[in-house]
Amino acid sequence: MWTIAGEGIHPIHEKRLTSSVTVGDLRLPGKVVIPLSQHIGAPSEPLVRIGDSVRKYQKIGEAKGFISASVHASISGKVIAIGKFPHPSGNQSHSIVIESDGKDEPMEGLTEHPDYLSLDPKELKDIIVNAGIVGMGGATFPTHVKLNPPKEKKIDTVLLNGAECEPYLTADDRLMVEMPREVVEGMKILMHIMGVKEGHIGIEDDKPGAIEAMRKAASGTGIHISVLEKKYPQGAEKQLIKSILGREVPSGGLPMDIGVVAQNVGTAAAVYNAVRYGIPLIERIVTVTGQGIQRPGNFRVRIGTLLEHVITECGGLVGEPGKILFGGPMMGIAQYTLYVPVLKGTSGILVIPKEDVLLEDFTACIRCGRCVQACPIRLLPNMYSVLAEAGKPKDAEKYYVLDCIECGCCTYVCPSRRPIVHQIRYIKAEMRKAKNKVA
Ligand code: SF4
Ligand code: SF4
Repeated sequence: MWTIAGEGIHPIHEKRLTSSVTVGDLRLPGKVVIPLSQHIGAPSEPLVRIGDSVRKYQKIGEAKGFISASVHASISGKVIAIGKFPHPSGNQSHSIVIESDGKDEPMEGLTEHPDYLSLDPKELKDIIVNAGIVGMGGATFPTHVKLNPPKEKKIDTVLLNGAECEPYLTADDRLMVEMPREVVEGMKILMHIMGVKEGHIGIEDDKPGAIEAMRKAASGTGIHISVLEKKYPQGAEKQLIKSILGREVPSGGLPMDIGVVAQNVGTAAAVYNAVRYGIPLIERIVTVTGQGIQRPGNFRVRIGTLLEHVITECGGLVGEPGKILFGGPMMGIAQYTLYVPVLKGTSGILVIPKEDVLLEDFTACIRCGRCVQACPIRLLPNMYSVLAEAGKPKDAEKYYVLDCIECGCCTYVCPSRRPIVHQIRYIKAEMRKAKNKVA
């Protein structure tokens, strides 16, 4: 059994609400809002105009540059608007709005590759680029970028992340239980592209069904299923690499610096569907959960579906919501409107009832050190908190604040309820601003 180096935490994980709920489908939404920016990097550029008819799978936004990703129509219908609409990040984002024609008509001529492992790596990478695949664990880094490391970086291992350590979320768990073959075949394609023989899939030990299904599917392939201790943030990329391979990503570095390409299990399944059937990334599994939703479950959701539609399809809210998060309770982002769309990186929607949201203000740091002990990167969260409060964000740089993965362990354990992650984000934003000024 592998585990992370730092202390980490053991939050209430509440996965029982959805862990045994089979992935279901939602009724087709009446419209979708597809942001041109759902990934790290440059937004894509629209390929359609208002009034155009589009079919499901049709490319409607072209990647702009290398670090970017294309977007595709997730339903058939008519483009009724192109402009700025609410985005789950809290900002407004350029988006294409498609009104459904109710037919869900797919585009014709998708290219299938039954013998996909005989394809050239370059050809496979082109398929992945065209399918608009990004990291589906939430990071949303364009997948093809990770598959094109600079020549001097020698990759020897592909690692798939099936840890899903974030409380409440079970989308990856259900994917591995119900569709293990897609994940393993996707992994084989990734290994073929990178020309490596070593592959690992990390899964936390609270997912016995997924472990069994993946072991069966991976049997005889040489892909190892690595069982990890249930601990947060076991699934953070750098922690996963350290736990399974014993290698440490250097401060400010990337997994490719130590010979590793890491992807999420959902990304591997998306790669398989793109390569085998020519299907671009237009839907994903989302866990809709929390004590504030009538019918929690795991659902296949079309990209661009509005939160309002998802909630209605899940039977509506239970009482008054205190918070609705995209993502889980540790790293999720609170939403201010129901008119935000599900994105390629939306692994979960969590509805917390009003009575469960703590509204007390934070108090002074008592230097208890709990945040330092919990930090999986072994940073000094207390220092960042105090410096942010004192209005001295620049001073945090020398304490390696940029290595913070914003996992939220420090905030979770702080007895003074200090909003440490928010303060860290403020520090990072100030540092970015200062850097842009100099540039
Ligand atoms: S949010 Fe950052 S500082 Fe806080 S525990 Fe996580 S990595 Fe450490
Ligand atoms: S846990 Fe909170 S109170 Fe304790 S040292 Fe960290 S910031 Fe201060």
